[in-house]
Amino acid sequence: MKRVMVTGGAGFLGSHLCERLLKDGCEVLCVDNFFTGRKENIVHLIDNPYFEIIRHDVTFPLYVEVDEIFNLACPASPIHYQFDPVQTLKTSVHGAINMLGLAKRTKAKIFQASTSEVYGDPQPETYWGRVNPIGIRSCYDEGKRCAETLFSDYHRQHGLKIKIARIFNTYGPRMNVNDGRVVSNFIVQALKGEDITIYGEGEQTRSFCYVDDLIDGFIRLMNTADNVIGPINLGNPNEFTIRQLAERILTLTDSRSRLVFRPLPQDDPQQRQPDITKAKTVLGWQPSIMLDEGLKKTISYFDEFLVGNRAANN
Ligand code: NAD
Ligand code: UDP
Repeated sequence: MKRVMVTGGAGFLGSHLCERLLKDGCEVLCVDNFFTGRKENIVHLIDNPYFEIIRHDVTFPLYVEVDEIFNLACPASPIHYQFDPVQTLKTSVHGAINMLGLAKRTKAKIFQASTSEVYGDPQPETYWGRVNPIGIRSCYDEGKRCAETLFSDYHRQHGLKIKIARIFNTYGPRMNVNDGRVVSNFIVQALKGEDITIYGEGEQTRSFCYVDDLIDGFIRLMNTADNVIGPINLGNPNEFTIRQLAERILTLTDSRSRLVFRPLPQDDPQQRQPDITKAKTVLGWQPSIMLDEGLKKTISYFDEFLVGNRAANN
């Protein structure tokens, strides 16, 4: 039985990945310091004898025996990664060094959850990026860039088997209700009948990938031959303006919330759309879940979550 470790396993993407790996017949070791991750995300897996959880901060070394590592530990939303920027950088950089060291000792294959933010602009994998090194998003962007460098050097210098995925905006159940990301913000605002906060004019674009599609891309990439190391863009190429997203969510929730406009945060990218040519050819992968379908599932999750919270507070 393959023993697979998932760092950041109690987070949004990590919890879906743990679930999928268990379903595929793997033994799963979930490692998380619970900064943004939650026990509620994985509580349904606890009774599975092939699921184990360790509270651990990846900025410190870890000694376990594993066959594969998915390195997802890192706060992903601007509110959380800007809360303690130095810790964000340590998580990406020291976390990568520690997990690569572990992979080297155990000869494990290792996957890095990188990000579209390494580009600064939406581009194919051949573009090297134009990223602000001293801005408020830099602790995330540059930390992830450095992690990619570390992965590449461990591959060249020590022959490690590596896989780098550059993930574009992903949404779905178990997104953190208050992490400030646009899909969770808009759905919660719409369900509560509160104003929908559009930053700027709402003309900036994003392309939203449903979590199940993304996790399928992770597994395909991890299972490629050793000469496939990436980076490979994973995301949904269907692009929407933020205003269009707000309007879809209003319709699907049948909400009477009003759209209100707020200042655009500093360094907010104007456009983001993945070029997934490489994922299509190398992995035979492309997203199959349309925005409306994914939004409906995410809305049901938040609906239940909010009802549960109200009941708990009464
Ligand atoms: P998330 O915040 O829900 O999950 C991150 C997890 O990492 C959390 O469980 C958190 O507690 C844990 N963590 C943070 N610092 C840690 C540390 N020092 N030690 C151990 N655990 C730590 O975010 P997510 O959306 O699930 O993102 C997962 C990964 O995917 C991240 O690396 C993120 O950068 C990357 N990513 C996500 C998206 C997206 O749209 N969701 C896009 C691009 C990249
Ligand atoms: N955004 C918005 N209203 C919100 C939250 C976000 O208009 O309540 C915008 C934000 O300015 C950005 C886009 O939505 O242009 C996506 O933001 P998110 O934080 O989800 O992800 P990222 O900027 O990292 O792509």
